[in-house]
Amino acid sequence: MGECIFCLIAQGKIPSSKIYETDSLYAFLDLNPVHKGHTLIIPKKHAENIFDLDPSLGGELVSFMKKVGRAVMETTGATGLNIYQNNGRSAGQEVDHLHWHLIPRFDGDGLKLWPQGKYDSMEEMNGLAEKIRARLS
Ligand code: AMP
Repeated sequence: MGECIFCLIAQGKIPSSKIYETDSLYAFLDLNPVHKGHTLIIPKKHAENIFDLDPSLGGELVSFMKKVGRAVMETTGATGLNIYQNNGRSAGQEVDHLHWHLIPRFDGDGLKLWPQGKYDSMEEMNGLAEKIRARLS
């Protein structure tokens, strides 16, 4: 994946505002922040999206997110933190190397990251839950 921009960033071949790294993970500032301090976390080994990620990275990833997230909040004075991650173009993924957005949030900052809808009925909602459960058994 020599052409992948986030692989090149993880390898230090193109510049980034690095925050922290381990053998497997790398954190750097997003060029176009929602708020200043908006940070991206990527696995160093290329994975296109969450479905490609080695699950054994889970524990280390959570520790890494907590450590970086806390430092971002303390530095920016944020009162909250969004962690989100896009999979696929329809979900807003622009860079095809898995990444988590850590977005510092502030009381009254007025951002609502997505609108929320409603089900037509509880039957519709429960029916959908049933169909999803059926795929997991
Ligand atoms: P997504 O829409 O989830 O794929 O987000 C991609 C993010 O990567 C966007 O928020 C961009 O601002 C950010 N981005 C793209 N290229 C770079 C770069 N070279 N350095 C830092 N952030 C970048």
